[in-house]
Amino acid sequence: MYQSFIGLEVHIHLLTKTKVFCGCRSAFGDEPNTNVCPVCMGYPGVLPSLNIESMRMGCMVAQALNCTIPEKTWFERKQYFYPDMPKNYQISQFASPLGQNGFVELAGRTGDREIKKQVRIKECHLEEDAGKMIHTGAVSLLDYNRAGVSLLEIVTEPDMETGEEAELFIQQLRRTVRYLGVCDGNMEEGSLRADANVSINLPGRGLGRKVEIKNLNSSRFVRLALNYEIKRQGEYLDAGKAVVQETRLWNENRDQTETMRQKENAQDYRYFPEPDIPVFLPDADFLRSVDQALVELPLDRARRYQRDFGLSPEQADSLCEEKEGADYFEEALNLAVKQGMEGREAAARIANWILQDIRHILNREGIPLRGIGGFKLSPPRLASLALLAGRISVKIAKQVLEAVFTEDKDPETIVRERGWEILSDPAKIAEAVGAVKTAEGETLAEARAAQAGGNGKRRSTLAAYLVGKVLEKTGGRADPKIAGAQIAALIDSP
Ligand code: ADP
Ligand code: ZN
Ligand code: MG
Repeated sequence: MYQSFIGLEVHIHLLTKTKVFCGCRSAFGDEPNTNVCPVCMGYPGVLPSLNIESMRMGCMVAQALNCTIPEKTWFERKQYFYPDMPKNYQISQFASPLGQNGFVELAGRTGDREIKKQVRIKECHLEEDAGKMIHTGAVSLLDYNRAGVSLLEIVTEPDMETGEEAELFIQQLRRTVRYLGVCDGNMEEGSLRADANVSINLPGRGLGRKVEIKNLNSSRFVRLALNYEIKRQGEYLDAGKAVVQETRLWNENRDQTETMRQKENAQDYRYFPEPDIPVFLPDADFLRSVDQALVELPLDRARRYQRDFGLSPEQADSLCEEKEGADYFEEALNLAVKQGMEGREAAARIANWILQDIRHILNREGIPLRGIGGFKLSPPRLASLALLAGRISVKIAKQVLEAVFTEDKDPETIVRERGWEILSDPAKIAEAVGAVKTAEGETLAEARAAQAGGNGKRRSTLAAYLVGKVLEKTGGRADPKIAGAQIAALIDSP
C-alpha cells in the first residue's frame, strides 16, 4: 500500500461587472472580441488599474477559507508567450498573495465513507484570465473577451488522499463561493476549473513525484482522474519503475489520464513586480467592507440546522445546497414560529415539505432553486400550510399544496373555499361510519370474527380498511383518530 497526496489548484471567475485591470465588460457568451480595449489587448503604453471589487471578492473568499490577509499585497508580471495572451505576460500575484495560510474543514459523506478532515489552504491570489482559443480544423480562432477577466486561484497543500476527498473539496468550495455571491460556480462554462496534483509514496517517506492533471471541468472528473492516477502510479511503482513528473489530461471518453507535456523542470517565468499597479494596502474601511459582505457559510448553516432544529445531517445538507433554498426555509420557519408554532416541530414539517413535495413541484415545473423568490408557494404560504397541520389531514395538505401552486391562492383560502377543514364532529363522522357499516357488512363480520378468534393482526388490517372507507366517504376530511375509535367501537360491540 502506498500513501497518496493530493493538492488542488482551483481557478474561479469572480462575478465582477468589469475586468480586473480595465473597464471592459466581464461576461460569458458575448459576441467574440467585443469586450476588449487597448489595456486587456496588451497594447504598448497603456495603464492598467486595479478593480477594487475584484480585490474585495478575492478577500471575501480568503476570509471564508480562514486565510490571513497580508498588510500589503501587490502584483507581479509572469512572463510567457501564448497566442491567447496578447501582452506576453500575465499580471498575477507571486510574493504577496491576498490570502495566506488558511484551512477548510472537509465534512460530508461519499458513498459509505464519512469524510472529516482539515485541508490547509496555501494561498489565494488574484490574477487575470487569458483569452480563449477555438480550434476549428486547419485554423485556430481567438476570442479575447475572457482576457483580463478577474480570476482567483486557490491553492491547497497536498492534504487530501483520495479522489472522493478532492471531489468533496470542490463541491464545498463551489457552494461557498456561490453563497458569497462571488462566482457562479459553473464548471461547464469554466467559471470554476481545477488542476489536480497527485503523488504517491511508501508510507512515511513523504511526498512522491507529482503528476499534474490539468483543466478538470467537473467535480466528478476530479474524483475519477485522481483515483485513476493513484492506481496508475501504484502499478508503476509495483513494477519497479519511477513515475515521470509530467502534466496529464483527463480523457473523458476513455476514462483515463493521458500525457500532455513532460518537460516539467520548473518553468522560469521571470516574475517581477508589476510597475504600473501600486501596492495595495487593505485599510480598515476596506477590511470592514469585506467583513460586511460575508455570510454564514453552508457548512456552518447546516450544522446550525442540526443543532438548533434537530434536523438530520442529510436534511440539513440538502436544505443548504443553495443559499436561496436555505433562505426560503428559514423565512417560512421564522414566520411559523412567530405565529406560535414550536421551533423544532415547525422545522421538521417545513423541511419535509421542501425536501419532498416542493422539490417535486420545482423539478416537475422546471423551476430552478434560484427562482424560488418568485415562487407561488411563498414562505408566508408555506408557513400557513405548516400551521394548518391538525386542521387538515396529511392527504388533504398535499392537495392544498398543489392548489396553492396552480391557483396562486393562500392555503387558508383554499381550505375554506373547498370545505377541506378536518371533520371532527363525532356525530358527522358517525353518519359516515353508519354508511360504511351498511356497505361493508361482510368485512365488519370478518373483523368481529377475527376479534373473537384472537387474531389481532387480521383484525387491525380490516379495521384500517374500514377507517379508510370512512375517510373516503368524507372526502378525506374525517379526523382519522375519531374515525378509528368509532370503527373500533363498532367491531367490539356485538
Ligand atoms: P509547482 O511549483 O509545480 O506549481 P506548487 O508547490 O506550487 O508546485 O504546488 C502546486 C500544487 O501541487 C499545490 O496544490 C500543492 O499542494 C501540490 N503539490 C506540490 N507537491 C506535491 C506532491 N509532491 N504531491 C502532490 N501534490 C503536490
Ligand atoms: Zn479591456
Ligand atoms: Mg505553483
